[in-house]
Amino acid sequence: MILDIVSYPDPRLKEPCQPIAEITDEIRQLAADMLETMYAAPGVGLAAPQVGRNIRLLVMDPAAKDEEPRPRVLVNPELELLGEEVCSEKEGCLSVPLGYRANVSRSSRVRLRATDLDGKPIDEELEDFPAIVVQHEYDHLEGVLFIDRISRLRRGLYDSKVKKWLKRKTAA
Ligand code: ZN
Repeated sequence: MILDIVSYPDPRLKEPCQPIAEITDEIRQLAADMLETMYAAPGVGLAAPQVGRNIRLLVMDPAAKDEEPRPRVLVNPELELLGEEVCSEKEGCLSVPLGYRANVSRSSRVRLRATDLDGKPIDEELEDFPAIVVQHEYDHLEGVLFIDRISRLRRGLYDSKVKKWLKRKTAA
């Protein structure tokens, strides 16, 4: 089932998420729905707060368009930033309206610890694009959006655009 995606400035995107104590059928169904929603959007990652759920669950597929899909579900992920700082060019987000994109500083390499949907532990290092995607999605679980990581000037310009857009939307 395709889920509704929560959009900035919805306050639900700002709340840190709760750990998942038990992987139930409901969590498994939610993960499947999140993958479906992500592919339909289309996007390369989606975190639970983006569909209105305040829990530490994310899905991602950093495979390139010409590669086989590599869907991943991460439960209670933890990240350790290892690499040097790199520029993530033109990052965007399914929850950030108006198709806004901006360059964001990210780590080139991370150590990822999580469990999969069977509760099996994951402990691996990710590099380059997959590392950037997991940092973006992990941020959502902490209530952080990529627009929280851009300069105040850029953020101010973007916020005024969103304000105008919301005004037009409610007027219509
Ligand atoms: Zn996002």
